[in-house]
Amino acid sequence: MSTWDEEFRQLQAEFLRGGPDRLVDIDETLDRLDRGTAATLADLKRHFHKLAGAGATYQRPQISTLAREAERRCDELLKGHGQPSTDDVARWRDIRLRLASLFDEGIATTVLAEPTPAAATASTPVPEGPRGELDVLLVDENQETRRLLASVLQHEGIPVREAGTCHDARALIDARVPDGLMVDVRLPDGSGYSVVEYARQKPDGEQTAILMLSAVGDFLDLAEAIHAGADACYTKPAEIEAAHRKLLQMLEQSQSEVPRILVVEDDEFHAAFARTVLESAGYQVDVCSAPRHFSEHMATFQPELLLMDVNLPEVSGYDLARLVRQQEQHAALPIIFLTSEAEMESRIRAAKAGGDEHLTKPVHPALLASAVGARLERARFLKSLLHRDGLTRLLTHASFMEQVQQVIDRRARVSPGPASLVLLDVDHFKQINDTYGHQAGDRVLATLAGSLRQHLRRTDVIGRYGGEEFGVLLDQLSAEDAQRLITRLLGEFAALDHAAGEHQHFRVTFSAGIAPWREGLERHAWIEAADQALYAAKKAGRNQVVVAP
Ligand code: GH3
Ligand code: MG
Ligand code: MG
Ligand code: MG
Repeated sequence: MSTWDEEFRQLQAEFLRGGPDRLVDIDETLDRLDRGTAATLADLKRHFHKLAGAGATYQRPQISTLAREAERRCDELLKGHGQPSTDDVARWRDIRLRLASLFDEGIATTVLAEPTPAAATASTPVPEGPRGELDVLLVDENQETRRLLASVLQHEGIPVREAGTCHDARALIDARVPDGLMVDVRLPDGSGYSVVEYARQKPDGEQTAILMLSAVGDFLDLAEAIHAGADACYTKPAEIEAAHRKLLQMLEQSQSEVPRILVVEDDEFHAAFARTVLESAGYQVDVCSAPRHFSEHMATFQPELLLMDVNLPEVSGYDLARLVRQQEQHAALPIIFLTSEAEMESRIRAAKAGGDEHLTKPVHPALLASAVGARLERARFLKSLLHRDGLTRLLTHASFMEQVQQVIDRRARVSPGPASLVLLDVDHFKQINDTYGHQAGDRVLATLAGSLRQHLRRTDVIGRYGGEEFGVLLDQLSAEDAQRLITRLLGEFAALDHAAGEHQHFRVTFSAGIAPWREGLERHAWIEAADQALYAAKKAGRNQVVVAP
């Protein structure tokens, strides 16, 4: 893998090699100048402007200074509606000649200064990205099984670590929380469930894709596995292939969550610079070099952040930003403007266009990466506010319903397997509020939400269906397994002491209704069936889980 310095040198060399082409553009524009329209002068300004910016970015200050000088004169004339004098043109031609020799010199010196390994190790570290290389941990007592599991992953280029015992697995998880984990239920010094639980409770363990395996004849308790934090379970050897598919799919999914950044930049050197910096920082990058293709890039790439050059052909970056802001779905999309116009005026225009930040070219790689990182984090947070309930951080009613519909739609396309819908309602909650206060009631709801989040899979859809009512969609889980899982959660929840005041504690139960998926079922009917089961649980005395007939 090449270091940032090497990549930078490569871009720098490309910039220098591309110099003559830029100068041809300048020559051509200078030739048109005596037929002197303002548009030609604006073209000339743009060429010098780009060169000034690129020169600074690629650490050629002399090129940048000369180009900047020429640009400034163009600007003065444009602003004063003046015509270039013969002196102006002579000066520009002189600058153009000096630029040519600077490019020649630059090429000569960079060829001499080929990167050496020593120079590479002394490089500036690239800022840490959101995710490094993938890593999978296999935990199985049998070495042959581990080898078989490992070979498939290694074919995919995924590094694998192996452990034969709970003890070794924990040590490897301590060293690095893996992106993927495959664990056999039965291990010589304990159960696989404990390893799953151990990984899940690590600070980064929430993101790990966890699969449990069991040998034929070994009893795998699905409810127990999910409770411990497993995402899916398979039997060996029959389902090993399916297990791999699932693991790869989950790893891919977590990778596709790598933030997408659209760079809108007409200058290929600046674009390559931004791409290199952001890709090294672990982001996915797409470049749009012509504003007329902007909408296409928006639609197909669906960026989470725009890095926008201000000086573009035909329209300005500010115009594009305004266009973006007019669309409701992009109202919160962060936009970072990149420009070499360092003046206050352009910042004010950025604010009016609804842009979020303004960075001045040349921007230091670390600054670019950290500005992007900070904006993305904030944008994700804002987005979560839209779809999540403030008290419980679970999906809002509307988002829950939407996701249930998505699961139903997906079931219509792929071969389904079981699924269970659960509605869950706190018992005598009104009384709790009345006795211990509304705030104590709020804490009960937050606690219940936390335990659902902790003990259900990250693929499960969990929502705050109503005030003290929650909805859960458990994919690939039969009603019987769902009942055992929810009953277990109920037992744990009912045993919790909730604080009210300093020395007072109270306990709370809930009731739940479960409706299994049946082919052709519509959303409202599925929810209605779960609601009927919930009603039956209430009627039968509360503190219990009922499955719809
Ligand atoms: P049941 O066992 O039949 O479900 O009885 P219940 O008292 O829980 O049911 P009921 O529907 O009569 O009362 C629900 C109560 O939940 C009424 C409402 O004030 C309270 N509630 C709804 N949302 C919230 C909330 O966000 N915080 C608090 N503290 N209370 C809430
Ligand atoms: Mg530009
Ligand atoms: Mg209730
Ligand atoms: Mg209720």
